[in-house]
Amino acid sequence: MKEFTYYQPKSVDGAIGLLDAKWGKTELLGGGTDLLDLTKEYVAQPDKVISLTGIANFADIQVAPQTGKGSVVLIGAGARLAAIADHAHLQKIFPALTTAAGMIGGPQIRNMGTLGGNLCQRNRCWYFRDEHVHCLLKGGQKCFALDGENQYHAIFTQGHKCVIVSPSTLGPVLIALDATAEVQGPKGKRTLELAKFFFAPSGENEREHVLAPNEVVLSVKIPEKEGTRNASYEVRQKQSYDWPLVQAAVAFKADGGKATGVKIVLGHVAPTPLVVEAAAKEVEGKEVTDAVATAAGKAAAKDAKPLSQNGYKVKLVEVAVKRALLTAANPGKRQYWEV
Ligand SMILES: Cc1cc2nc3c(=O)[nH]c(=O)nc-3n(C[C@H](O)[C@H](O)[C@H](O)COP(=O)(O)OP(=O)(O)OC[C@H]3O[C@@H](n4cnc5c(N)ncnc54)[C@H](O)[C@@H]3O)c2cc1C
Ligand code: SF4
Repeated sequence: MKEFTYYQPKSVDGAIGLLDAKWGKTELLGGGTDLLDLTKEYVAQPDKVISLTGIANFADIQVAPQTGKGSVVLIGAGARLAAIADHAHLQKIFPALTTAAGMIGGPQIRNMGTLGGNLCQRNRCWYFRDEHVHCLLKGGQKCFALDGENQYHAIFTQGHKCVIVSPSTLGPVLIALDATAEVQGPKGKRTLELAKFFFAPSGENEREHVLAPNEVVLSVKIPEKEGTRNASYEVRQKQSYDWPLVQAAVAFKADGGKATGVKIVLGHVAPTPLVVEAAAKEVEGKEVTDAVATAAGKAAAKDAKPLSQNGYKVKLVEVAVKRALLTAANPGKRQYWEV
């Protein structure tokens, strides 16, 4: 690991003042579960590491009831993944979020990892993580995954020079739930829809999100819409200490037995979380039956263009969407695939 200077400012302004306007020289530190790996692998070589752990109230989770309209939930970027997964009220209103947070890594990762770090974590492409490989995202000329080992890479590859998958499982859920992020930089604060937060990078001066190098995620706000059902379903190779192969996050209003305002978002299949409108159309205005959920799964997978080794993920998309929809439509019901 290259030597760096460690800072622990007491305010967000203090943190922003320490950040460089270009990527590379400075890094923010949440729980360090990604950043420390990147520095040990010499993929990140910052001069300054700026911890966010000294900032008061940065990890708060607040639920503000709105008269007659559910509530608004504000989660500080420093909130630990375990605190999100274990939050009793969130479990009740946003099971998609608490389920996804509770499946990340293992207890150690969830006790250290933060919401801000989860949204801003770097991709897991093994070529990118190898200090000796200079692919597009490290200033090189080539994507080594295109004709290399690509079994865990994107299957929605159209228009992408770099075929990573977005690594955050909270991202698709927060998009399905219409969440927004508040971020702050040298020019002040701005609010970003989570749907516009993620970015498909193709060069070394780009990240997997749209933030500037000197911007900090402060919090995420999620509106609770009365009667909304939501769920996240992940297909995993192993149940812990790994990322999902495919994830589907869904949210809709259960209106007299019919689903309205349907959102279906895929994770771990494209360089950013993928909103699949064609799949949502299959469900809109209908009762979520087995047949409707199956049709939505097929529509979600229709435009996939897999690489040489990851065609198996196409079927997993169909399964994940179907199961997420049936889970959301039948809260508390034991499903046939559950052992
Ligand atoms: C074995 C293993 C399995 C995992 N499985 C999953 C999984 O299934 N799903 C999943 O989503 N994740 C998974 N992860 C990743 C894990 O969720 C992330 O490592 C964690 O969420 C990062 O949070 P952190 O606070 O530790 O981030 P850090 O490592 O501290 O930071 C990560 C990045 O985010 C930036 N950052 C941190 N906070 C902010 C902020 N507030 N504003 C702007 N930038 C910020 C940092 O500068 C850095 O670039 C796994 C990790 C491991 C090691
Ligand atoms: S997928 Fe992206 S990160 Fe991986 S080798 Fe290709 S360009 Fe690099």
